[in-house]
Amino acid sequence: AKALGPSQYRFYAPSMNARGHEFLSLEGDLQQALEQNEFRLYYQPQVDAQSGKVVGMEGLIRWQHPKRGIVSPADFIPLLEGSGLIISVGEWVLRQACMQHRIWREAGFNDLRISVNVSATQFNDRHLMDKIQRAIKEEQMIPHLLELEITENTVMQDPVAVIETLNALRSEGVRIAIDDFGTGYSSLAYLKRFPLSVLKIDKSFVDDIGEVGGDSTIVEASISLAHKLGLQVVAEGVERVEQYEFLRSIGCDLIQGYYINRPLTEADMTDFLVKNATQ
Ligand code: C2E
Ligand code: CA
Ligand code: CA
Ligand code: CA
Repeated sequence: AKALGPSQYRFYAPSMNARGHEFLSLEGDLQQALEQNEFRLYYQPQVDAQSGKVVGMEGLIRWQHPKRGIVSPADFIPLLEGSGLIISVGEWVLRQACMQHRIWREAGFNDLRISVNVSATQFNDRHLMDKIQRAIKEEQMIPHLLELEITENTVMQDPVAVIETLNALRSEGVRIAIDDFGTGYSSLAYLKRFPLSVLKIDKSFVDDIGEVGGDSTIVEASISLAHKLGLQVVAEGVERVEQYEFLRSIGCDLIQGYYINRPLTEADMTDFLVKNATQ
């Protein structure tokens, strides 16, 4: 190994673990992925629990890697965060979602909501408002149909500054969802002060529904709390009919999960929307 050049030395850094090879080379590839248009946005439908009709969708990023095929966001979002590239990629996601939303609107799907995930680094970017305003204007997005998903940990980092940003977003008309609810650290006192629209109950709590020894207390309490705060509730990771039926029976508003559909390419999402509309 001593005969290798400096770049190879870095490759054998002491911090390397079993996944080190993969991570390091993916990181190098990420620099080019954005320029070479290798990211894709997939869309996962959200349906009204009562009517079963699609009311919105979440945009979820994928990386169409030239050698590895589709790479999951769990494998590259942390790398994007670390390198700061998440800011540019996040902007791409926002633009892509708005652009695709316009295509669906022009095809007659008028009131669909679309949400995108906003990471903490992206949320704390001082140009965030500016980028969102520009994206809305240039992609002719309808602000109240755009939703940003942020986690409890993002909002609790600096609650006072966050309230200011959220108020600015609200005055633009953009909706805010709290993602992965129940998994992070959040203070109910602050949640009440935040101008939020949606609470997304994490899959880990939905998993408990209908399991032997499972406990639906947290799901029920979260829905009740959210409704008291005037928030709409989305249950995430709904995979089975018993979960769907139970969530509907306790007043959960929207359902998202493999039971409805996996995240779909834009073409498959279009087919799904057409089918859902004629059902
Ligand atoms: P998330 O925001 O909590 O997204 C939900 C994840 O659960 C998605 O994984 C989705 O495919 C998966 N999922 C949905 N329904 C089910 C189900 O019924 N069963 C199971 N087992 N899984 C289900 P995905 O697409 O791999 O994304 C993973 C995470 O990566 C996301 O979690 C989000 O934190 C992050 N991510 C994805 N896209 C973006 C993005 O554009 N920007 C940022 N910053 N993060 C993103
Ligand atoms: Ca999400
Ligand atoms: Ca989530
Ligand atoms: Ca999650």
